[in-house]
Amino acid sequence: MLIGEVMFNGFYAGQPESYGREKVVFLTEKHCAVCGRKIKEGYKFRDVFSSNFGDHYSFMFPLSDAVCEYCEVLFRDDFRRIDGILCSLTQCLIVNPKNSFGMDLSRLSNVKVITKSDILHCLVNPPDPPFFVAFKNSEYKNKHFIYQAVVNFNKNLFFISMNGRRCLVDRALLQRMLDILQSAGGVNSENVKIVRDVIKSFIFNTGTEEVKETENKKKAKKNKKEELFNALFNEFKPLADKLVQNSFLINILSYCRND
Ligand SMILES: [Zn+2]
Repeated sequence: MLIGEVMFNGFYAGQPESYGREKVVFLTEKHCAVCGRKIKEGYKFRDVFSSNFGDHYSFMFPLSDAVCEYCEVLFRDDFRRIDGILCSLTQCLIVNPKNSFGMDLSRLSNVKVITKSDILHCLVNPPDPPFFVAFKNSEYKNKHFIYQAVVNFNKNLFFISMNGRRCLVDRALLQRMLDILQSAGGVNSENVKIVRDVIKSFIFNTGTEEVKETENKKKAKKNKKEELFNALFNEFKPLADKLVQNSFLINILSYCRND
């Protein structure tokens, strides 16, 4: 099961509308440049990718001049304008904050638009496998990003792609982080920053003392921050090993924070 197949079924319900690219029958069997499957018909590479595309290194057969019908849908320009996607074989959620998606979604019954703050809920309640998840932010601009995701077969431990980087999500750990943050006032900038400091203190094994000292030097909102830091430090301490291994989870919280 490859990512294009999930997209082909989850977004288009197996029937993608034509995108103005001509489907051709090849004289001999070819490999799809992107996924490597053997195909007798599909699309010409140059009809799918512009000469500006430069990420061929991540393809299975970068020298092939053919693209399969599944991979073709991943590289439609409309998808460069969205910020995120969670897709299974039967359901597709897209994050489209600027409402810049060019396609009329009303005829696509599998597709639903969500906001950034819905993402955390969706990650702790992922769709039935196989599924993939990919996000990007403004750093990634209008680049294609969906093809960099991986297909997951496990709801409890899965990869998401953020700006092309793969991040492992331990669902139980993420749920626990959310529970702790909710009781500390929510997933807001200040709390996320403090959790980042807590995780750093686990990574560098500094405990609460060194951070206190830094905070003293800054003298900014010292007492309240210190109090919250200590509370979160104690809450997260039993999870320290897991958090260090999964420290990229903080980037997800930062991306999805709701303030
Ligand atoms: Zn392919």
